[in-house]
Amino acid sequence: MDYDVLILGGGIVGCAVAYELSKYNLNIALIEKGYDVADDIAVVNTTIVYDGSETSNEVMAGFENIGSGLIREACEKFKIPYKKVGSLRIATNDAQCAKLEEMYLNAKDRGISGVKLVNDSEIKEIEPNLDIEVKKALYSKNTAIIAPYHLSIAYAEVAADNGVNFRLEEEVLNISKITTKTTKGFDVITSKNKFKCKVVINTIPDEIYVYDNNRIEEKSEEIIQKKMNYFLAEDKIKNSLKKIVVNVIDEQTFVISSPMINGGTMFGVKNTNVLDTNKGVYFSKCIVPSVTKEDISEMIREVYKRDEMVIDNSKFDDGYIRVTGKHYGKVTIAPAIAQSIRNDIVYGMNSTLKKNFVDKRREFYRFKNLNRDEINEIINLDRRYGNIICACNKVSEGEIVDCIRRPLGARTVEGVKKRTGAGYGNCHGSYCIRKIVNILAREMDKSPTDIVRNSKDSKIVSGRIKEFDEV
Ligand SMILES: Cc1cc2nc3c(=O)[nH]c(=O)nc-3n(C[C@H](O)[C@H](O)[C@H](O)COP(=O)(O)OP(=O)(O)OC[C@H]3O[C@@H](n4cnc5c(N)ncnc54)[C@H](O)[C@@H]3O)c2cc1C
Repeated sequence: MDYDVLILGGGIVGCAVAYELSKYNLNIALIEKGYDVADDIAVVNTTIVYDGSETSNEVMAGFENIGSGLIREACEKFKIPYKKVGSLRIATNDAQCAKLEEMYLNAKDRGISGVKLVNDSEIKEIEPNLDIEVKKALYSKNTAIIAPYHLSIAYAEVAADNGVNFRLEEEVLNISKITTKTTKGFDVITSKNKFKCKVVINTIPDEIYVYDNNRIEEKSEEIIQKKMNYFLAEDKIKNSLKKIVVNVIDEQTFVISSPMINGGTMFGVKNTNVLDTNKGVYFSKCIVPSVTKEDISEMIREVYKRDEMVIDNSKFDDGYIRVTGKHYGKVTIAPAIAQSIRNDIVYGMNSTLKKNFVDKRREFYRFKNLNRDEINEIINLDRRYGNIICACNKVSEGEIVDCIRRPLGARTVEGVKKRTGAGYGNCHGSYCIRKIVNILAREMDKSPTDIVRNSKDSKIVSGRIKEFDEV
Protein backbone atom coordinates (compact mmCIF):
# COMPACT_ATOMS: atom_id res chain seq x y z
CA MET A 1 0.00 0.00 0.00
CA ASP A 2 1.24 3.52 -0.80
CA TYR A 3 -0.90 5.18 1.84
CA ASP A 4 -3.18 4.28 4.73
CA VAL A 5 -5.47 7.19 3.91
CA LEU A 6 -5.89 9.27 0.75
CA ILE A 7 -7.85 12.51 1.15
CA LEU A 8 -9.24 13.73 -2.15
CA GLY A 9 -9.70 17.52 -2.49
CA GLY A 10 -7.82 20.22 -0.65
CA GLY A 11 -10.65 22.63 0.20
CA ILE A 12 -11.46 23.59 3.78
CA VAL A 13 -12.97 20.15 4.46
CA GLY A 14 -9.95 18.26 3.06
CA CYS A 15 -7.49 20.47 4.97
CA ALA A 16 -9.41 20.11 8.25
CA VAL A 17 -9.52 16.31 7.81
CA ALA A 18 -5.77 16.25 7.04
CA TYR A 19 -5.09 18.22 10.22
CA GLU A 20 -7.22 15.94 12.43
CA LEU A 21 -5.69 12.75 11.00
CA SER A 22 -2.12 14.07 11.16
CA LYS A 23 -2.34 13.59 14.94
CA TYR A 24 -2.30 9.80 14.39
CA ASN A 25 0.25 7.24 13.27
CA LEU A 26 -1.07 7.01 9.72
CA ASN A 27 0.56 7.40 6.35
CA ILE A 28 -1.59 10.06 4.66
CA ALA A 29 -1.63 12.02 1.40
CA LEU A 30 -4.02 14.72 0.19
CA ILE A 31 -4.56 15.12 -3.55
CA GLU A 32 -5.59 18.53 -4.89
CA LYS A 33 -5.84 19.47 -8.52
CA GLY A 34 -5.14 23.19 -7.95
CA TYR A 35 -1.83 25.00 -7.40
CA ASP A 36 -2.84 25.73 -3.85
CA VAL A 37 -5.11 24.40 -1.14
CA ALA A 38 -8.51 26.06 -0.56
CA ASP A 39 -8.20 28.09 -3.71
CA ASP A 40 -11.97 28.47 -4.07
CA ILE A 41 -12.66 29.50 -0.54
CA ALA A 42 -11.87 33.17 -0.48
CA VAL A 43 -14.41 34.75 -2.78
CA VAL A 44 -14.52 37.41 -0.12
CA ASN A 45 -11.78 37.65 2.47
CA THR A 46 -14.35 37.35 5.27
CA THR A 47 -16.47 34.41 6.30
CA ILE A 48 -19.20 34.30 8.88
CA VAL A 49 -18.86 31.70 11.60
CA TYR A 50 -22.44 30.70 12.42
CA ASP A 51 -23.57 29.29 15.77
CA GLY A 52 -26.41 27.02 14.61
CA SER A 53 -29.25 29.39 15.56
CA GLU A 54 -29.99 30.71 12.05
CA THR A 55 -30.87 27.39 10.37
CA SER A 56 -34.02 25.28 10.47
CA ASN A 57 -31.97 22.15 9.79
CA GLU A 58 -31.19 20.37 13.06
CA VAL A 59 -28.21 18.41 11.69
CA MET A 60 -26.56 21.50 10.17
CA ALA A 61 -27.26 23.41 13.39
CA GLY A 62 -25.41 20.74 15.38
CA PHE A 63 -22.42 20.79 13.02
CA GLU A 64 -22.32 24.60 13.05
CA ASN A 65 -22.45 24.75 16.81
CA ILE A 66 -19.55 22.30 17.24
CA GLY A 67 -17.66 23.86 14.30
CA SER A 68 -17.87 27.40 15.66
CA GLY A 69 -16.27 26.30 18.94
CA LEU A 70 -13.51 24.43 17.11
CA ILE A 71 -12.84 27.43 14.85
CA ARG A 72 -12.50 29.73 17.87
CA GLU A 73 -9.92 27.35 19.40
CA ALA A 74 -8.03 26.93 16.11
CA CYS A 75 -7.88 30.69 15.51
CA GLU A 76 -6.43 31.24 18.97
CA LYS A 77 -3.92 28.39 18.58
CA PHE A 78 -2.78 29.32 15.07
CA LYS A 79 -2.98 33.11 15.54
CA ILE A 80 -5.68 33.66 12.93
CA PRO A 81 -7.72 36.89 13.16
CA TYR A 82 -11.09 36.07 14.74
CA LYS A 83 -13.68 38.70 15.63
CA LYS A 84 -16.77 37.81 17.61
CA VAL A 85 -18.98 40.56 16.25
CA GLY A 86 -22.49 39.22 16.99
CA SER A 87 -25.47 39.27 14.65
CA LEU A 88 -28.95 40.77 14.51
CA ARG A 89 -31.61 39.15 12.34
CA ILE A 90 -34.26 41.83 12.13
CA ALA A 91 -38.04 41.77 11.76
CA THR A 92 -40.00 44.67 10.35
CA ASN A 93 -43.49 43.10 10.35
CA ASP A 94 -45.57 40.67 12.43
CA ALA A 95 -44.94 37.65 10.22
CA GLN A 96 -41.18 38.14 10.57
CA CYS A 97 -41.54 38.60 14.35
CA ALA A 98 -43.33 35.23 14.53
CA LYS A 99 -40.52 33.62 12.52
CA LEU A 100 -37.90 35.06 14.89
CA GLU A 101 -39.77 33.67 17.89
CA GLU A 102 -39.71 30.25 16.27
CA MET A 103 -35.96 30.59 15.62
CA TYR A 104 -35.38 31.67 19.21
CA LEU A 105 -37.23 28.60 20.55
CA ASN A 106 -35.20 26.38 18.21
CA ALA A 107 -31.96 27.89 19.52
CA LYS A 108 -33.14 27.33 23.10
CA ASP A 109 -34.07 23.70 22.36
CA ARG A 110 -30.62 23.20 20.81
CA GLY A 111 -28.98 24.51 23.97
CA ILE A 112 -27.33 27.46 22.20
CA SER A 113 -26.66 30.11 24.81
CA GLY A 114 -26.04 33.78 23.99
CA VAL A 115 -29.13 34.07 21.75
CA LYS A 116 -32.08 36.29 22.66
CA LEU A 117 -35.02 38.21 21.22
CA VAL A 118 -34.59 41.97 21.53
CA ASN A 119 -36.99 44.91 21.04
CA ASP A 120 -36.31 48.20 19.28
CA SER A 121 -34.74 49.98 22.28
CA GLU A 122 -32.41 47.04 23.03
CA ILE A 123 -31.48 46.92 19.34
CA LYS A 124 -30.43 50.60 19.54
CA GLU A 125 -28.15 49.75 22.48
CA ILE A 126 -26.61 46.74 20.69
CA GLU A 127 -26.15 48.50 17.33
CA PRO A 128 -26.54 52.28 17.77
CA ASN A 129 -25.80 52.91 14.08
CA LEU A 130 -28.72 50.85 12.78
CA ASP A 131 -30.90 53.55 11.26
CA ILE A 132 -33.99 51.68 10.03
CA GLU A 133 -37.37 50.91 11.60
CA VAL A 134 -37.20 47.51 13.31
CA LYS A 135 -39.85 45.81 15.44
CA LYS A 136 -37.78 42.97 16.86
CA ALA A 137 -34.52 41.14 16.26
CA LEU A 138 -32.93 37.82 17.08
CA TYR A 139 -29.58 38.71 18.61
CA SER A 140 -26.75 36.18 18.77
CA LYS A 141 -23.60 37.31 20.47
CA ASN A 142 -21.81 34.14 19.24
CA THR A 143 -21.57 34.96 15.52
CA ALA A 144 -18.01 35.73 14.44
CA ILE A 145 -15.99 36.61 11.34
CA ILE A 146 -12.70 35.11 10.20
CA ALA A 147 -10.48 35.10 7.10
CA PRO A 148 -11.37 31.62 5.78
CA TYR A 149 -8.24 31.08 3.74
CA HIS A 150 -6.04 31.56 6.80
CA LEU A 151 -7.91 28.81 8.61
CA SER A 152 -7.47 26.38 5.70
CA ILE A 153 -3.78 27.14 5.20
CA ALA A 154 -3.13 26.86 8.94
CA TYR A 155 -4.74 23.38 9.05
CA ALA A 156 -2.76 22.40 5.94
CA GLU A 157 0.60 23.73 7.17
CA VAL A 158 0.31 21.95 10.52
CA ALA A 159 -0.79 18.74 8.77
CA ALA A 160 2.17 19.02 6.35
CA ASP A 161 4.61 19.63 9.21
CA ASN A 162 3.23 16.49 10.86
CA GLY A 163 3.83 14.31 7.85
CA VAL A 164 0.80 14.60 5.53
CA ASN A 165 1.96 14.54 1.93
CA PHE A 166 0.19 17.32 -0.02
CA ARG A 167 0.13 16.42 -3.70
CA LEU A 168 -0.85 19.62 -5.52
CA GLU A 169 -1.53 19.98 -9.25
CA GLU A 170 -2.65 16.37 -9.38
CA GLU A 171 -6.17 15.60 -10.54
CA VAL A 172 -8.08 12.54 -9.39
CA LEU A 173 -9.34 10.71 -12.44
CA ASN A 174 -10.71 7.47 -11.04
CA ILE A 175 -11.17 5.47 -7.89
CA SER A 176 -11.62 1.72 -8.00
CA LYS A 177 -11.94 -0.92 -5.32
CA ILE A 178 -9.13 -3.46 -5.20
CA THR A 179 -10.84 -6.70 -6.00
CA THR A 180 -8.32 -9.36 -4.91
CA LYS A 181 -9.43 -11.61 -2.04
CA THR A 182 -6.36 -10.95 0.09
CA THR A 183 -6.11 -7.16 -0.21
CA LYS A 184 -8.68 -4.58 0.83
CA GLY A 185 -8.44 -1.01 -0.37
CA PHE A 186 -8.50 1.24 -3.40
CA ASP A 187 -6.63 2.14 -6.53
CA VAL A 188 -6.72 5.89 -7.09
CA ILE A 189 -5.64 7.06 -10.51
CA THR A 190 -4.56 10.67 -10.86
CA SER A 191 -3.26 12.76 -13.72
CA LYS A 192 0.28 11.89 -12.58
CA ASN A 193 0.23 8.61 -10.59
CA LYS A 194 -1.56 5.48 -9.56
CA PHE A 195 -1.83 4.91 -5.80
CA LYS A 196 -2.99 2.08 -3.61
CA CYS A 197 -4.51 2.97 -0.26
CA LYS A 198 -6.56 1.40 2.50
CA VAL A 199 -9.04 4.25 2.95
CA VAL A 200 -10.33 7.00 0.65
CA ILE A 201 -11.88 10.17 2.07
CA ASN A 202 -13.51 11.93 -0.86
CA THR A 203 -14.23 15.61 -0.21
CA ILE A 204 -14.48 16.65 -3.87
CA PRO A 205 -17.90 18.28 -3.99
CA ASP A 206 -18.89 18.19 -7.65
CA GLU A 207 -18.27 14.82 -9.17
CA ILE A 208 -19.54 11.57 -7.76
CA TYR A 209 -16.84 8.94 -8.11
CA VAL A 210 -18.46 5.54 -8.13
CA TYR A 211 -15.66 3.27 -7.16
CA ASP A 212 -17.32 -0.10 -7.38
CA ASN A 213 -18.09 -0.03 -11.09
CA ASN A 214 -15.02 1.91 -12.03
CA ARG A 215 -16.47 5.03 -13.62
CA ILE A 216 -17.19 8.63 -12.86
CA GLU A 217 -20.83 9.68 -12.90
CA GLU A 218 -22.24 12.92 -14.19
CA LYS A 219 -22.03 16.04 -12.05
CA SER A 220 -24.49 16.08 -9.17
CA GLU A 221 -27.61 18.12 -9.75
CA GLU A 222 -27.70 21.62 -8.38
CA ILE A 223 -30.48 21.81 -5.88
CA ILE A 224 -30.88 25.52 -5.51
CA GLN A 225 -29.59 28.04 -8.04
CA LYS A 226 -29.82 31.31 -6.19
CA LYS A 227 -27.16 33.98 -6.50
CA MET A 228 -25.29 35.64 -3.73
CA ASN A 229 -24.29 39.10 -4.95
CA TYR A 230 -21.59 40.69 -2.81
CA PHE A 231 -20.91 44.43 -2.78
CA LEU A 232 -17.82 45.42 -0.87
CA ALA A 233 -17.56 48.91 0.57
CA GLU A 234 -14.42 50.54 1.88
CA ASP A 235 -14.19 51.80 5.41
CA LYS A 236 -15.65 55.21 4.63
CA ILE A 237 -19.40 54.57 4.94
CA LYS A 238 -20.89 57.00 7.42
CA ASN A 239 -21.86 55.23 10.67
CA SER A 240 -21.01 51.74 9.46
CA LEU A 241 -22.40 48.83 11.46
CA LYS A 242 -20.32 46.80 13.91
CA LYS A 243 -22.73 43.84 13.98
CA ILE A 244 -23.77 41.45 11.24
CA VAL A 245 -27.34 42.40 10.27
CA VAL A 246 -29.73 40.24 8.27
CA ASN A 247 -32.92 41.63 6.71
CA VAL A 248 -35.23 39.19 4.94
CA ILE A 249 -36.99 41.18 2.21
CA ASP A 250 -39.21 38.45 0.69
CA GLU A 251 -39.13 34.71 -0.01
CA GLN A 252 -36.53 35.14 -2.76
CA THR A 253 -34.37 37.85 -1.28
CA PHE A 254 -32.43 38.57 1.84
CA VAL A 255 -29.76 41.17 2.53
CA ILE A 256 -26.86 40.73 4.90
CA SER A 257 -24.39 43.34 6.03
CA SER A 258 -21.20 42.27 7.76
CA PRO A 259 -18.05 44.05 8.88
CA MET A 260 -15.01 42.65 7.08
CA ILE A 261 -12.00 41.22 8.88
CA ASN A 262 -9.63 43.91 7.50
CA GLY A 263 -12.09 46.80 7.71
CA GLY A 264 -14.92 47.92 5.44
CA THR A 265 -18.37 46.42 5.00
CA MET A 266 -19.58 43.49 2.93
CA PHE A 267 -23.19 43.59 1.69
CA GLY A 268 -24.59 40.31 0.43
CA VAL A 269 -27.86 40.13 -1.48
CA LYS A 270 -29.34 36.71 -2.08
CA ASN A 271 -31.57 36.80 -5.12
CA THR A 272 -32.48 34.69 -8.13
CA ASN A 273 -30.89 37.36 -10.35
CA VAL A 274 -27.41 38.67 -10.96
CA LEU A 275 -27.58 42.25 -9.65
CA ASP A 276 -25.71 45.34 -10.87
CA THR A 277 -24.32 48.00 -8.52
CA ASN A 278 -27.49 50.13 -8.66
CA LYS A 279 -29.62 47.19 -7.55
CA GLY A 280 -26.99 46.21 -4.99
CA VAL A 281 -27.03 49.67 -3.46
CA TYR A 282 -30.85 49.67 -3.53
CA PHE A 283 -30.95 46.47 -1.46
CA SER A 284 -28.02 47.43 0.78
CA LYS A 285 -29.97 50.54 1.78
CA CYS A 286 -32.50 48.16 3.40
CA ILE A 287 -29.89 47.86 6.16
CA VAL A 288 -27.65 50.93 5.79
CA PRO A 289 -29.69 53.77 4.22
CA SER A 290 -26.63 56.06 3.94
CA VAL A 291 -24.71 53.74 1.56
CA THR A 292 -24.11 55.18 -1.92
CA LYS A 293 -22.81 53.80 -5.21
CA GLU A 294 -19.51 55.65 -4.61
CA ASP A 295 -18.93 53.57 -1.45
CA ILE A 296 -18.87 50.29 -3.40
CA SER A 297 -15.38 49.26 -4.49
CA GLU A 298 -15.93 45.67 -5.64
CA MET A 299 -18.69 43.30 -6.75
CA ILE A 300 -18.47 39.50 -6.50
CA ARG A 301 -21.05 36.86 -7.35
CA GLU A 302 -21.42 33.26 -6.21
CA VAL A 303 -24.01 30.55 -6.44
CA TYR A 304 -25.86 30.29 -3.14
CA LYS A 305 -26.29 26.74 -1.83
CA ARG A 306 -27.96 25.33 1.22
CA ASP A 307 -28.17 21.62 0.54
CA GLU A 308 -27.46 19.45 3.53
CA MET A 309 -23.87 18.41 4.15
CA VAL A 310 -23.63 14.65 4.56
CA ILE A 311 -20.79 12.45 5.73
CA ASP A 312 -21.61 9.28 3.86
CA ASN A 313 -19.79 6.51 5.71
CA SER A 314 -22.16 3.74 4.59
CA LYS A 315 -19.24 2.14 2.68
CA PHE A 316 -16.72 2.55 5.47
CA ASP A 317 -16.42 -1.21 5.81
CA ASP A 318 -14.86 -1.09 2.33
CA GLY A 319 -12.76 1.91 3.37
CA TYR A 320 -14.68 4.70 1.62
CA ILE A 321 -16.02 7.92 3.13
CA ARG A 322 -17.56 10.67 1.08
CA VAL A 323 -18.53 14.19 2.10
CA THR A 324 -21.34 15.63 -0.02
CA GLY A 325 -23.25 18.88 -0.17
CA LYS A 326 -22.62 22.55 -0.63
CA HIS A 327 -23.73 24.84 2.10
CA TYR A 328 -23.49 28.55 2.90
CA GLY A 329 -21.94 27.63 6.27
CA LYS A 330 -19.46 25.00 5.06
CA VAL A 331 -16.44 26.74 6.56
CA THR A 332 -18.15 26.72 9.96
CA ILE A 333 -19.16 23.10 9.54
CA ALA A 334 -15.82 21.79 8.19
CA PRO A 335 -13.97 21.30 11.52
CA ALA A 336 -16.94 19.36 12.93
CA ILE A 337 -17.05 17.14 9.84
CA ALA A 338 -13.30 16.54 10.17
CA GLN A 339 -13.62 15.48 13.80
CA SER A 340 -16.42 13.09 13.00
CA ILE A 341 -14.40 11.50 10.16
CA ARG A 342 -11.35 11.29 12.43
CA ASN A 343 -13.41 9.36 14.99
CA ASP A 344 -14.54 6.87 12.32
CA ILE A 345 -10.97 6.36 11.08
CA VAL A 346 -9.40 6.06 14.52
CA TYR A 347 -11.99 3.49 15.56
CA GLY A 348 -12.06 1.62 12.25
CA MET A 349 -8.29 1.49 11.74
CA ASN A 350 -7.35 1.16 15.39
CA SER A 351 -5.03 4.14 15.04
CA THR A 352 -2.81 5.43 17.81
CA LEU A 353 -1.85 9.01 18.60
CA LYS A 354 1.56 10.25 17.42
CA LYS A 355 3.88 10.94 20.31
CA ASN A 356 5.68 13.71 18.43
CA PHE A 357 2.64 15.55 16.99
CA VAL A 358 3.31 19.31 17.01
CA ASP A 359 0.08 21.30 17.25
CA LYS A 360 1.67 24.57 16.26
CA ARG A 361 2.03 26.63 13.12
CA ARG A 362 5.48 27.94 12.24
CA GLU A 363 5.88 31.57 13.30
CA PHE A 364 5.67 34.44 10.83
CA TYR A 365 5.96 38.21 11.13
CA ARG A 366 3.39 40.72 9.96
CA PHE A 367 5.13 44.07 9.47
CA LYS A 368 1.96 46.07 10.04
CA ASN A 369 1.35 44.43 13.44
CA LEU A 370 4.86 45.11 14.78
CA ASN A 371 5.97 48.14 16.82
CA ARG A 372 9.03 50.21 15.85
CA ASP A 373 11.46 48.27 18.08
CA GLU A 374 10.23 44.92 16.76
CA ILE A 375 10.47 46.20 13.17
CA ASN A 376 14.08 47.32 13.71
CA GLU A 377 14.98 44.03 15.35
CA ILE A 378 13.62 41.96 12.47
CA ILE A 379 15.16 44.26 9.82
CA ASN A 380 18.53 43.79 11.51
CA LEU A 381 18.10 40.04 11.11
CA ASP A 382 16.77 40.22 7.52
CA ARG A 383 16.84 43.47 5.56
CA ARG A 384 14.06 42.29 3.27
CA TYR A 385 11.58 43.05 6.09
CA GLY A 386 12.47 46.73 5.53
CA ASN A 387 11.49 46.67 1.86
CA ILE A 388 7.78 47.42 1.57
CA ILE A 389 6.20 45.76 -1.46
CA CYS A 390 2.50 46.48 -0.85
CA ALA A 391 2.21 50.07 0.34
CA CYS A 392 -1.57 49.90 0.94
CA ASN A 393 -1.41 46.97 3.38
CA LYS A 394 2.21 47.47 4.48
CA VAL A 395 3.51 44.07 3.40
CA SER A 396 7.28 43.67 3.22
CA GLU A 397 9.46 41.60 0.90
CA GLY A 398 10.50 39.46 3.91
CA GLU A 399 6.89 38.38 4.49
CA ILE A 400 6.43 37.48 0.82
CA VAL A 401 9.64 35.44 0.70
CA ASP A 402 8.62 33.64 3.93
CA CYS A 403 5.16 32.79 2.53
CA ILE A 404 6.80 31.23 -0.54
CA ARG A 405 9.41 29.26 1.42
CA ARG A 406 7.11 27.90 4.15
CA PRO A 407 5.77 24.34 4.02
CA LEU A 408 3.06 24.43 1.36
CA GLY A 409 4.41 27.80 0.27
CA ALA A 410 2.67 30.11 -2.20
CA ARG A 411 3.46 29.45 -5.84
CA THR A 412 1.00 31.83 -7.46
CA VAL A 413 0.22 35.53 -7.16
CA GLU A 414 -3.14 34.71 -5.54
CA GLY A 415 -1.30 32.43 -3.09
CA VAL A 416 0.92 35.33 -2.02
CA LYS A 417 -2.02 37.74 -1.82
CA LYS A 418 -4.12 35.41 0.32
CA ARG A 419 -1.29 34.52 2.68
CA THR A 420 0.08 38.04 3.21
CA GLY A 421 -2.69 40.48 2.26
CA ALA A 422 -0.42 42.11 -0.36
CA GLY A 423 -2.43 43.40 -3.32
CA TYR A 424 -5.72 43.53 -1.39
CA GLY A 425 -5.43 47.25 -0.64
CA ASN A 426 -7.16 50.24 -2.19
CA CYS A 427 -4.98 50.19 -5.32
CA HIS A 428 -6.02 46.55 -5.98
CA GLY A 429 -2.42 45.56 -6.65
CA SER A 430 -1.59 48.09 -9.36
CA TYR A 431 1.54 49.06 -7.40
CA CYS A 432 2.73 45.66 -6.18
CA ILE A 433 1.62 42.83 -8.51
CA ARG A 434 4.65 43.31 -10.79
CA LYS A 435 6.95 43.17 -7.75
CA ILE A 436 5.22 40.03 -6.43
CA VAL A 437 5.64 38.36 -9.83
CA ASN A 438 9.38 39.14 -9.77
CA ILE A 439 9.82 37.79 -6.21
CA LEU A 440 7.93 34.58 -7.08
CA ALA A 441 10.06 34.15 -10.21
CA ARG A 442 13.30 34.70 -8.29
CA GLU A 443 12.35 32.36 -5.41
CA MET A 444 11.11 29.59 -7.69
CA ASP A 445 13.90 30.05 -10.19
CA LYS A 446 11.47 30.66 -13.03
CA SER A 447 10.97 33.36 -15.61
CA PRO A 448 8.40 36.06 -14.68
CA THR A 449 6.50 35.05 -17.81
CA ASP A 450 5.92 31.61 -16.20
CA ILE A 451 4.28 33.04 -13.06
CA VAL A 452 0.50 32.57 -12.91
CA ARG A 453 -2.33 34.26 -11.06
CA ASN A 454 -3.91 31.04 -9.72
CA SER A 455 -4.10 28.34 -12.38
CA LYS A 456 -2.12 27.19 -15.36
CA ASP A 457 -4.17 29.27 -17.79
CA SER A 458 -3.78 32.52 -15.87
CA LYS A 459 -0.39 33.96 -16.81
CA ILE A 460 0.15 37.53 -15.63
CA VAL A 461 2.91 38.55 -18.03
CA SER A 462 2.25 37.41 -21.58
CA GLY A 463 5.79 38.02 -22.87
CA ARG A 464 8.69 40.42 -23.14
CA ILE A 465 8.50 43.44 -25.37
CA LYS A 466 12.10 44.62 -24.68
CA GLU A 467 15.11 43.00 -23.13
CA PHE A 468 15.27 44.84 -19.79
CA ASP A 469 16.90 43.12 -16.79
CA GLU A 470 13.55 43.05 -14.98
CA VAL A 471 10.04 42.58 -16.28
C1 LIG B 1 -21.90 32.50 -1.60
C2 LIG B 1 -21.19 31.72 -0.55
C3 LIG B 1 -20.98 32.28 0.70
C4 LIG B 1 -20.38 31.55 1.71
N1 LIG B 1 -20.25 32.12 2.93
C5 LIG B 1 -19.84 31.35 3.96
C6 LIG B 1 -19.86 31.88 5.28
O1 LIG B 1 -20.12 33.07 5.50
N2 LIG B 1 -19.54 31.04 6.30
C7 LIG B 1 -19.21 29.72 6.10
O2 LIG B 1 -19.00 29.02 7.08
N3 LIG B 1 -19.15 29.21 4.85
C8 LIG B 1 -19.46 29.99 3.78
N4 LIG B 1 -19.47 29.47 2.52
C9 LIG B 1 -19.02 28.10 2.27
C10 LIG B 1 -17.59 27.98 1.84
O3 LIG B 1 -16.90 29.15 1.54
C11 LIG B 1 -17.36 27.01 0.70
O4 LIG B 1 -18.52 26.31 0.41
C12 LIG B 1 -16.27 26.06 1.11
O5 LIG B 1 -15.05 26.74 1.09
C13 LIG B 1 -16.17 24.85 0.25
O6 LIG B 1 -15.26 23.98 0.89
P1 LIG B 1 -14.93 22.49 0.42
O7 LIG B 1 -13.68 22.12 1.06
O8 LIG B 1 -15.99 21.54 0.65
O9 LIG B 1 -14.98 22.53 -1.08
P2 LIG B 1 -13.98 23.15 -2.08
O10 LIG B 1 -13.37 24.38 -1.54
O11 LIG B 1 -14.71 23.24 -3.37
O12 LIG B 1 -12.84 22.01 -2.11
C14 LIG B 1 -12.81 20.98 -2.95
C15 LIG B 1 -11.41 20.89 -3.53
O13 LIG B 1 -11.35 19.75 -4.36
C16 LIG B 1 -10.53 20.07 -5.47
N5 LIG B 1 -10.88 19.18 -6.56
C17 LIG B 1 -11.99 19.17 -7.32
N6 LIG B 1 -11.95 18.17 -8.22
C18 LIG B 1 -10.76 17.52 -8.02
C19 LIG B 1 -10.13 16.40 -8.63
N7 LIG B 1 -10.72 15.71 -9.60
N8 LIG B 1 -8.91 16.01 -8.17
C20 LIG B 1 -8.29 16.67 -7.15
N9 LIG B 1 -8.86 17.74 -6.54
C21 LIG B 1 -10.07 18.16 -6.96
C22 LIG B 1 -10.87 21.53 -5.78
O14 LIG B 1 -9.81 22.14 -6.50
C23 LIG B 1 -11.05 22.11 -4.37
O15 LIG B 1 -9.86 22.67 -3.86
C24 LIG B 1 -19.99 30.21 1.47
C25 LIG B 1 -20.14 29.65 0.20
C26 LIG B 1 -20.72 30.40 -0.81
C27 LIG B 1 -20.91 29.78 -2.15
